[in-house]
Amino acid sequence: MAYDPQSVERKWQQRWDERGTNHAGLAGARRPFYNLMMYPYPSAEGLHVGNVFAFTGADIYGRFRRLTGEDVFQPLGFDAFGIHSENYALKMGIHPGELIPRNVERFRRQLKRIGLMVDWRYEVNTIDPGYYKWTQWIFLQLLKGNLAERRKAPVNWCPKCKTVLANEQVIDGYCERHPDARVEQRVLEQWFFRITKYVEPLLEHLATLDWSHSTRMLQTNWIGRSEGAEIAFETPGGQKILVFTTRADTLFGATYLVLAPEHPSVGRIATAEKELDVAEYQRQGAKKDIVSRKVGGEKTGVFTGAYARNPATGDSIPIWVADYVLMEYGTGAIMGVPGHDARDFEFATTYKLPIVRVVAGEGQDARTPLAGAEPGDELPGARLVNSGEFDGLSPAEGRRGIVARLEREGRGKAVVNYRLHDWCVSRQRYWGPPIPIIYCDECGAVPVPEKDLPVLLPWVEDTRPDDSGTSPLARHQEWYRVPCPTCGRMGRRETDVSDTFLDSSWYFLRYPSADRADVAFDDGLTRKWLPVTSYIGGNEHAVLHLLYSRFVTMALKDLGFIRFDEPFSKFRAHGTIVKDGAKMSKSRGNVVVPDQYVEQWGADTFRMYLMFLGPYQEGGDFRDAGISGIRRFLDKVWGLAETVDGAGPGVDGQRSTVDANPRRPVEELEHLLHRTIGKVTADTESLDYNTAIAAMMEYVNALREGTPSRTLVEPLVVMVAPYAPHFAEECWERLGHGTSVMDARWPKLDAAKATAGTVEVVVQVNGKVRARLVLPRGTGEAETIRAAKAEPGVKKFLNGNEPKKVIFVPDRLVNFVV
Ligand SMILES: [Zn+2]
Ligand SMILES: [Zn+2]
Repeated sequence: MAYDPQSVERKWQQRWDERGTNHAGLAGARRPFYNLMMYPYPSAEGLHVGNVFAFTGADIYGRFRRLTGEDVFQPLGFDAFGIHSENYALKMGIHPGELIPRNVERFRRQLKRIGLMVDWRYEVNTIDPGYYKWTQWIFLQLLKGNLAERRKAPVNWCPKCKTVLANEQVIDGYCERHPDARVEQRVLEQWFFRITKYVEPLLEHLATLDWSHSTRMLQTNWIGRSEGAEIAFETPGGQKILVFTTRADTLFGATYLVLAPEHPSVGRIATAEKELDVAEYQRQGAKKDIVSRKVGGEKTGVFTGAYARNPATGDSIPIWVADYVLMEYGTGAIMGVPGHDARDFEFATTYKLPIVRVVAGEGQDARTPLAGAEPGDELPGARLVNSGEFDGLSPAEGRRGIVARLEREGRGKAVVNYRLHDWCVSRQRYWGPPIPIIYCDECGAVPVPEKDLPVLLPWVEDTRPDDSGTSPLARHQEWYRVPCPTCGRMGRRETDVSDTFLDSSWYFLRYPSADRADVAFDDGLTRKWLPVTSYIGGNEHAVLHLLYSRFVTMALKDLGFIRFDEPFSKFRAHGTIVKDGAKMSKSRGNVVVPDQYVEQWGADTFRMYLMFLGPYQEGGDFRDAGISGIRRFLDKVWGLAETVDGAGPGVDGQRSTVDANPRRPVEELEHLLHRTIGKVTADTESLDYNTAIAAMMEYVNALREGTPSRTLVEPLVVMVAPYAPHFAEECWERLGHGTSVMDARWPKLDAAKATAGTVEVVVQVNGKVRARLVLPRGTGEAETIRAAKAEPGVKKFLNGNEPKKVIFVPDRLVNFVV
């Protein structure tokens, strides 16, 4: 009987459901292995091929760990709140409360169709009141723990989204969702989580986590630790302006000060005659977004009319206000050192402020003119000039010396600054969990009592945000007006909903307890299953989602709810799939719709093809042509499983696919089997699925040149199981097994057999060892040389040239003389 993927997949999905094959025994597990994958946002387009790629890779890993003896828990759910979902609903003119559950339905069906080993009994869905009740509960715990606060802050405002945007959602001054909407700045009252309180452990623990290097680097840069100094500049009137700098060595070159337009001292510092100019500049500045202020082109500013004393030179220097300085970085004030900072140079040139050299490199002295800003501190021979007693010191020595003098004089101190700022969780939108706060004229902001949770998201017919900066929830009067929990007078509900990233900052805690209504997460289960053993997801979430999850975990630990402070012991970032060399997009018309391929080829072939495209952590290029090769591989395995003794007799002449006069003796096939076990085990563990598949293909071709016995074929079927699970189940059953292949044991490597019959051949170039080959004993000269030349470490030195001479010692050595 030929392999028919559609009937095989239907049969096994049904059987998995009936038998509970994918269920994890959470309470009784002896070797818990929590295999987490990033839950999807259920877009209206349905499951994307990128989702299938990501989930298949995580699923293979989970299945592999189960076959190697672990109790694997692999849950999945939906990140269904948020602005993406809401904007789409608005575009379609369908209420998100109707549309999103429909999308979730469809996603779930598609996810089941690709054969993931998901225990659907523990699904979470962030829009379910049974879930967001606990999201609100977490908000209240952080509030109690003094980690949530309400304050006014300048924020990016998209006039089309009509809500605040995070900095990374602003692209060159425009909204990432609205390339035609120039982002504005607004000052709003918002709720913030004080993530900055945890900045040190967030940074320090990174070194101890088993995470992809790229992900740790992204987080490190985002946190942005810099060592520097805080220096006090005094005005004649005795006001102190604190600036933060990483370049205290250039203090003698500070010829002016700049305050951010939002700096609280601006009003007090500006002189009477400049007051109006400054106020006008502040008003204009408020229209710009934060990102284009940072990178933006032309530097603008306004003089306050006031001066301060440079604590090193004693000179009186002018105080300016300019929007290239941000309140969120450092102290919101900088010293302008135009000689050695590019933005300061540009500003000083525009406003004709003095530019002084205080660092000189080799061949330069104090009088060498500056053609532009020269950072200078990296140059060989760099030393301080025009810096009084510090002349001649290296920039590093100069920094230490100048800070020491400032500390002695009480005018400054060494400090560490971070780029990370507090997490704004307020969104002026409809589609999210209402923030559980009631405002009372007498009592202020009062937390909703925990017994009254969840604060249900009311059904509001018109969910469109407006320009007022208040959420559409404010229009629902019966919901909005509510008695104050403390004094009983009429109060008002908070109308902002919380950021989607709050929903996803704790979902991994919820899964094991998803069936529990009485607690957010059960203490015993949490202790047994967390932290997460392995987490796989996209690097696009490396910064925000992973950072916020780590923060919430640390906070919950300090508040006494959990006993660990890092949620994900191991994290691996998967790659991305492109089509014919280009990123998939609707406008290019090259979007791969997974359903069509699953329909035509079956989920198993499609899964395996995606994994074969390239290294999982890098991704690959989707080309239709390659998929039939995977199908041929599965057909061959199918044929092998049908021909081994004891399996059902091969009908319609299937047996004849195997050579009647085997060219490969059993010993050689055994040796190949164990080599394959070694390779597939190591490669599956390191997520190098493409090379694991290649090794299995090679083995299958060899088996077809010999007499495949049960001991040679069954281990292959088990190794195929994580990759093509329905297919492997069917083969396993045909081999006479009554239980799921997922309850089989991963084949055991016999190291002696794996190396039997092979030799190590050393490859040298000009007498230096450049590679070692493992080859069957007795491999001939031509074949050995061909294999040696193909080694990357050898290729490099041959440089495409024919070697002048080749020395060949059979089974031992090849030496190329070039
Ligand atoms: Zn927008
Ligand atoms: Zn009250």
